[in-house]
Amino acid sequence: MANRRDFIKTAAIGSVAMALNSFKSNEDEIPFFDGKVNKPIVISTWNFGVKANGAAWEILKNNGRALDAVEAGVKIPEGDPTERSVGYGGRPDRDGRVTLDACIMDENANIGSVACLEHIKHPISVARAVMEKTPHVMLVGDGALQFALSQGFQKENLLVEDSEKEWKEWLKTSHYKPIANIENHDTIGMIALDSSGNLSGACTTSGMAFKMHGRVGDSPIIGAGLYVDNEIGAATATGHGEEVIRISGCHLVVELMRQGKSPQKACEEAVSRIVKLTKNRGKNLKDIQVGFIALNKKGEYGSYCIQGGFNYAVNQTSGNKLVDADYFLK
Ligand code: ASP
Repeated sequence: MANRRDFIKTAAIGSVAMALNSFKSNEDEIPFFDGKVNKPIVISTWNFGVKANGAAWEILKNNGRALDAVEAGVKIPEGDPTERSVGYGGRPDRDGRVTLDACIMDENANIGSVACLEHIKHPISVARAVMEKTPHVMLVGDGALQFALSQGFQKENLLVEDSEKEWKEWLKTSHYKPIANIENHDTIGMIALDSSGNLSGACTTSGMAFKMHGRVGDSPIIGAGLYVDNEIGAATATGHGEEVIRISGCHLVVELMRQGKSPQKACEEAVSRIVKLTKNRGKNLKDIQVGFIALNKKGEYGSYCIQGGFNYAVNQTSGNKLVDADYFLK
């Protein structure tokens, strides 16, 4: 039978153990950070991200700036006429006009964006010029074109023969129904952490094929299609832009990381918001695709989307690989 002295002893050991436990759990709440940051690293959406990452890596591996890397990276699919959802060769709107959306954001929260820009092959570079050479953050339509021309960008025909044929075929029914993962949309969003530990991002697209003229998606909207916070992390999005805008998607992902979530969990939570709102609005989730990718200051990354079929490319010191994103609708 335990006497009083034993009881006091046990109680004392117990409270030391409790104190140790509470110390441990406090310690657990502080994010573990041992100074080993996984950098440089660049991640980008879809399989065209692999080539794009390659161009970005050339800059990152030589200790270049993340901002230069993401611009150089996304210019690859922008300039490729066989990539039919970004830049030159992108599918037109319902009036047969190729209208492009793009934005860029650096480690100091400098931002630049263009929307509904026609005739310019590299909208991302025009977005960067808006950021660096104007007092504004966003130019659209004719104003964006005028500005681009004033900066020496060349006016070009961006409508390639195959896209024109597809559009003429589409005109026979003129039925606007973007189908999830079926090549009538896709955006390159790219986010990078450079060897100095700075984050930047870029996002560029021709938007949804056969959209109404003047339609702007999430991709050129800072906070929706792209967001960078150099203290926390960065995120970018692809898929049905209307749904991404509805939740201010990429800003949300970054704020969730600020609250302590991993990039993976932050993307999952953002997708779950879209899932909930879609159900509440009586819409069919099967008709929607949205994918997020995210990267934090430690160089950890993650991704999540609504439907299977979305992938993203990851380039770090160990190599450049394509990863299938996890998804909600299983
Ligand atoms: N987010 C783009 C848009 O809505 C399209 C896409 O990424 O699929 O314009």
